[in-house]
Amino acid sequence: MDEIEHEKIELIMGLRKQGIRDKRVLSAVERVPREKFIAGTFRKQAYEDHALPIECGQTISQPYIVAYMTEQLQVGERMKVLEVGTGSGYQAAVLARLCRRVYTVERYRTLLNDALKRFEDLRLTNITARVGDGGKGWPEQAPFDRIIVTAAAPSVPQILVDQLKEGGLMVVPVAISGSRGEQKLVRIERTGEGVKREELLPVRFVPLVEGVAKES
Ligand code: SAH
Repeated sequence: MDEIEHEKIELIMGLRKQGIRDKRVLSAVERVPREKFIAGTFRKQAYEDHALPIECGQTISQPYIVAYMTEQLQVGERMKVLEVGTGSGYQAAVLARLCRRVYTVERYRTLLNDALKRFEDLRLTNITARVGDGGKGWPEQAPFDRIIVTAAAPSVPQILVDQLKEGGLMVVPVAISGSRGEQKLVRIERTGEGVKREELLPVRFVPLVEGVAKES
């Protein structure tokens, strides 16, 4: 067995130990080569359970958080999922193994182009990705069964709640007001009457920034 396979098995065992139970989620994580989403010197840390830097000052999330958020999202095979914050494309690739189609939005063109190449190399044909302000969702494709936001919002974005189907779930990191950059992961269910809100874990994400990034 090569080194990467060995490290990957260790990572999956670690995720199970930390409480990830959903077999579909564990197998999706196992099937996505995280090293392909990381450039240069950091690549050798691909199977360590922490966040790593990517281009444009952003980060690829920690595998545990990707697995946890994916598990909390309860993604079904026939579902249409929106991701806000494509970044490296890793979370989108994990979701793509679990649902019918992933729509993902990123505000940096550079990151989006890199992610698109990875989706092509890995033949992930059920991901549609575009540059845009994901805080506005993807109105042309709404409503969604599931929405995952991978950057921290100041509060639960109502525009995104409005793009959820009834019975749909959204997982979103929200900044705790008055704190020094602390955030909590929130799960929203859109019901017939309004929304149900549940607080999950303390987390640390890069901020959700309005508008498309200007790049030189
Ligand atoms: N899901 C990513 C993690 C990305 S980090 C992965 O698996 O690698 C968060 C990403 O959200 C960053 O790339 C950042 O540029 C992006 N982002 C922040 N605000 C955004 C917005 N309003 N619209 C779209 N993307 C945004």
